[in-house]
Amino acid sequence: MKKILVTGGSGFIGSELVRFIIDHTEHQVLNMDCLTYAANQESLASVSGNDRYQFEQVDIRNKVAVEKVFSDFQPDIVMHLAAESHVDRSIEGPEAFIDTNVKGTFNLLEASRKLGKSDFMFHHISTDEVYGDLEGTDDLFLETTPYAPSSPYSASKAASDHLVRAWHRTYGLPVVITNCSNNYGPFQFPEKLIPHMILNAIHGKSLPVYGDGNQVRDWLFVTDHVKALLTVAQSGKVGETYNIGGFNEKSNLYVVEYICDLLDKKVSAMRDEKIKSFKELITFVKDRPGHDRRYAIDATKIKNELGWTPDESFETGIEKTVDWYLENKTWWERVLSGEYKLERKGQV
Ligand code: NAD
Repeated sequence: MKKILVTGGSGFIGSELVRFIIDHTEHQVLNMDCLTYAANQESLASVSGNDRYQFEQVDIRNKVAVEKVFSDFQPDIVMHLAAESHVDRSIEGPEAFIDTNVKGTFNLLEASRKLGKSDFMFHHISTDEVYGDLEGTDDLFLETTPYAPSSPYSASKAASDHLVRAWHRTYGLPVVITNCSNNYGPFQFPEKLIPHMILNAIHGKSLPVYGDGNQVRDWLFVTDHVKALLTVAQSGKVGETYNIGGFNEKSNLYVVEYICDLLDKKVSAMRDEKIKSFKELITFVKDRPGHDRRYAIDATKIKNELGWTPDESFETGIEKTVDWYLENKTWWERVLSGEYKLERKGQV
């Protein structure tokens, strides 16, 4: 039994990780999250009463508070997911991304160093976006691909990756980094592409696709990501980086059309009678500035060295996701209305 400190455990991937650890392992979890708009304690309802789970509402920008949690809990493993994560928001207001993603990671590294435990792992959860754009090539991102981030979000994640490597090299802190492709699945905040499209479609709203919709992303079902994270946190080699991907390169337009096809099959009754397919709701809108055209992960290293491969194909994962949003109306209705924040002590 290990003591795992998860930062950002109330967000999309973090809550899946916390639920997975409680449901499928014997480990103890402390979730440290300051509860930004992206957090949802209702995503943790199934585990919040478990005696191996505890929650601390702490902002990783607050060094003193972070160090107190480390010193009280004495984690064996830190899995660091807390971040500002939405690219569009980083373009509108980059400062929070620097404060949380860079300075917050610095605080966690320093707290880990002060803890001084010999049997310890700091696992930094990062993104494939740090590698930049693969437009015009058939290349895949390798762990050795040079960093070339395009957005304030990806630049802040790249900066935090560099800090983590430096704390290993300079101070000998045991660290491991994972860089993952786009995740999707249940409990994702509706501002992200897939839930946004599902919910807009069933409400008869337009489905806004950036530019020509031909931006390619490698999609990974969130449970597969979480299984990879636990594999790396427990068996990854200290100082190494592992890329995680779904081998599912799809254009944004393909993803949106696929969702429409599924909804046409499953809930055609929810469609406005004036249209024959949800696809008729697709509209093309002005592209995001600096929008990368293609990301693609080579996940051979984690497969060969740690034996991880994804269980879900895009087709099985997206169907599970659409079904989850159709069956869990209360969860997303409370997000859309803002009621999900009512029980909180405070909002950051
Ligand atoms: P999310 O936005 O859904 O959740 C982020 C969580 O971090 C929220 O619960 C939020 O309250 C918390 N948080 C933010 N700022 C904080 C602060 N200052 N102090 C404490 N907590 C804070 O994000 P996500 O999609 O679950 O992503 C989790 C991590 O995985 C991020 O580090 C992200 O960069 C990385 N990642 C995400 C994807 C993806 O497709 N979503 C892909 C690869 C990597």
